[in-house]
Amino acid sequence: MSPLIIANWKMKLGLDESRLLAQAVKKIPTGSTEVVICPSFPSLTTVSAVLARSRFALGAQDCFWEPHGAYTGAVSPETLHEIGCRYVIVGHSERRQYLGETDEMVHRKVAAALSAGLVPIICVGETFEQRQTGHQDYALIQQTSRALEGIALTEDQQLIVAYEPVWVIGTGQAINPDQAQTAHQVIRQTLIDLFPLTLVTENIRIIYGGSVDSGNVADFVRLEHTAGVLVGNASLDAGAFAALIRSV
Ligand code: PEP
Repeated sequence: MSPLIIANWKMKLGLDESRLLAQAVKKIPTGSTEVVICPSFPSLTTVSAVLARSRFALGAQDCFWEPHGAYTGAVSPETLHEIGCRYVIVGHSERRQYLGETDEMVHRKVAAALSAGLVPIICVGETFEQRQTGHQDYALIQQTSRALEGIALTEDQQLIVAYEPVWVIGTGQAINPDQAQTAHQVIRQTLIDLFPLTLVTENIRIIYGGSVDSGNVADFVRLEHTAGVLVGNASLDAGAFAALIRSV
């Protein structure tokens, strides 16, 4: 399978900045690498138009769990699909931390995204305190299983689990690839407990996120059972992002 790079632009760019970055990104040669760009909600339509008929796929940073209704401010996965999204990030630690997103909400979003034809990118990861107190594996098992328990994944659906240690996101200091490998094994075993092995192998990808850049990306994508990376800061500059894609 081709390596996967997902760019999370967070709330860091305005509409014009997003359009300009998308225009620059579109020119980057990707080779066999699959690249997904996740702009903010207001920039999705603009970036979708820029990236149309390119090798870059579009993703959103969040979705609601209902297809329509009286849910002020929410955006349905169906609308995201209509805009041109193929992917959606759910349960990012910043949403868990600042917006009170719970495992139950993540679960509902995963189910809704799948039924709208989107590929959910489920973020899981331990806090520094959980790591220090020996609760890292527990946190990963809980978040992964609560997000996915009862989800009947079919052969034509895909999902992605992004391991993102909360304490390294945005710090510029990634964890040691061996530590990521250990976490990915815990996540993979949790997935094997939930789904048939063939689905885990063929329909579910585990990726790493947390201060990935052009200098360290190769160390993560070469790990066993690691399909790619989720990138925040290093995806906000076309030059740095091009270097990262080249390194993959
Ligand atoms: C993220 O926000 O998902 C992320 C991985 O950010 P950064 O690459 O900046 O650590």
